[in-house]
Amino acid sequence: MTITAVRGFNDILPGDSFVWKFVEQSAWRVFASYGYSEIKVPVVEKTELFMRSIGETTDIVEKEMYSFADRHGDGLTLRPEGTASVVRAYIEHKLYTKPVNKLYYHGPMFRYERPQKGRYRQFYQIGAEVLGSAHPHMDAEAIEMLVRFFTEIGLTGITLHINSLGCSECRPGYKAALIGFLEGVKDRLCENCRRRIAANPLRALDCKSTGCIEATRSAPAITGSLCDGCADHFGKVKVSLSARGIVAVINPRMVRGLDYYTKTTFEITASGLGAQNAVAAGGRYDGLVSDLGGPATPCFGFAMGMERVVLLLQETGLEARGIRPDAVCAFIPIGAQAIDAGTGIVKGWRQAGLSVIEIFDEGALKSRMKMADRLGARFAVILGEDELKAGLVTIKDMKTAGQTQVRLADAAAELAKAAL
Ligand code: ATP
Ligand code: MG
Repeated sequence: MTITAVRGFNDILPGDSFVWKFVEQSAWRVFASYGYSEIKVPVVEKTELFMRSIGETTDIVEKEMYSFADRHGDGLTLRPEGTASVVRAYIEHKLYTKPVNKLYYHGPMFRYERPQKGRYRQFYQIGAEVLGSAHPHMDAEAIEMLVRFFTEIGLTGITLHINSLGCSECRPGYKAALIGFLEGVKDRLCENCRRRIAANPLRALDCKSTGCIEATRSAPAITGSLCDGCADHFGKVKVSLSARGIVAVINPRMVRGLDYYTKTTFEITASGLGAQNAVAAGGRYDGLVSDLGGPATPCFGFAMGMERVVLLLQETGLEARGIRPDAVCAFIPIGAQAIDAGTGIVKGWRQAGLSVIEIFDEGALKSRMKMADRLGARFAVILGEDELKAGLVTIKDMKTAGQTQVRLADAAAELAKAAL
């Protein structure tokens, strides 16, 4: 019996990985232009970190974590998200000695969810966090950066939803009002939400079961309970977004699935993904650094789901956006002399930045051309004995079947130009 991958854990094959690379490189470029630099954090953390940050009564901690005891008996967890690790590292390495840190990360996250289109058990996120700024402009700037990224990769038709979750001053009042409301519709809630009414009533607003969505339709809106500070902050975020030309839909039901959020939260959805329509989400988390033992530090961050972004690009067309794999040149030397001379020639082309595969297999030119085609080469570059003597080489465009002979010395430049 052959061994297959674990359900919900995917291979990303070369036929897709070039799209991933495009997305990642576009993100690095945009994020760098806003002054972000990369932080690499481990995929495994002490379980306690997630329990204390994400919250013990969230779906992620209650049902979705891959937690295990290692050989030593230490309780470890495969990270379900990246913010907790970034904050842990921020405190551990005293990054707070710098007034503001703008950090981005990427990598796999793990959640035990039901695998389906756009939802997997190992999935990849690109995330960004700004630690050390309380300014509402910073919320808007981070959202602008994300919107710019989506524009840059050619994804239109996305919707920004924003909300404010208040702070430790005003949220308790809202929670009490919500608990009162939920008690009244208790019978219509799912078992999970019913159980959590007292401990974590906000979860009912994030529940995906139709019963809970229906039952909470007329729940009190958090935006009506904000204290002056939170209302002012939210107002300024909205003004700042609109000054940046960004349209936002206010969605008072959007509470997010993680407990650490305060004030601004947001989600970006895209049509064309079915039920899994959230491509990125995030918000402010002003209490998390101090909750985890660091100095009080206001922060804002977000994460986007790579698989969903890649799916959207693939479904709405890669060609039109100029997303394609590297153009590979297949080098076909004919005869012993050409093979020998070819080694040095190809080395030079590679140093010049071309992607070159060599087809050493002997045999008829026709079968070697076929091989080049099956390997997905964009160009075949043929060097015969006579051509070698004359200092020439033949370039065949595999797409158009057009053929030209160029000087060996010009070949790298010609190929680079043709590959654009
Ligand atoms: P959803 O509401 O779809 O479950 P979420 O609120 O749990 O998303 P976050 O924890 O905020 O998502 O993560 C940010 C992004 O990561 C999501 O918007 C989504 O694009 C992606 N994501 C989350 N869970 C998964 C998953 N299991 N598989 C693939 N992508 C995911
Ligand atoms: Mg989720």
